[in-house]
Amino acid sequence: MFIAHLPAGYLLTRGIVRKRETIWRPALAVGLIFSLAPDLDLFYFYLVDGRRTPHHDYWTHAPLFWLAAAALTVLALSLAGKRQYLIFVGIAFANVLLHLFLDSIAADIRWLYPFSDIRFNLVEIPARYQPWYLNFILHWTFAAEMAICVAAVWAWGSEKV
Ligand SMILES: [Zn+2]
Repeated sequence: MFIAHLPAGYLLTRGIVRKRETIWRPALAVGLIFSLAPDLDLFYFYLVDGRRTPHHDYWTHAPLFWLAAAALTVLALSLAGKRQYLIFVGIAFANVLLHLFLDSIAADIRWLYPFSDIRFNLVEIPARYQPWYLNFILHWTFAAEMAICVAAVWAWGSEKV
């Protein structure tokens, strides 16, 4: 997925927390950050790894990593008596799972890693065009991305302040 992670994160977070709730602004910030968080590995991919490993193979695209991080954060917040912040862990984790689900539509995600290397994706994108990204932009799945973007813009515009 190229362009719809952020708008999808907006829609998901908006579905979890209403704008009139006092936690709306921090919830939205957490939701948007974690809707993109798995793709922070692109910095490593381009700047350190020299594009040798597909970035979907890094631990940042492993659901069990995020599950463990969320569980540890829940434990730490609970032990510290800060249970009022648990909603933000839920928002972050939900947005990461949405990111990985959306990636799974047209890219390989190892949902069971490190227990299995089986890759899951909904559709295969044939490599017909150069440069490589045209294969994704000219595929029907990109229409789904555009629909998510339009829905997010519509939702944003329909909100009452
Ligand atoms: Zn990703």
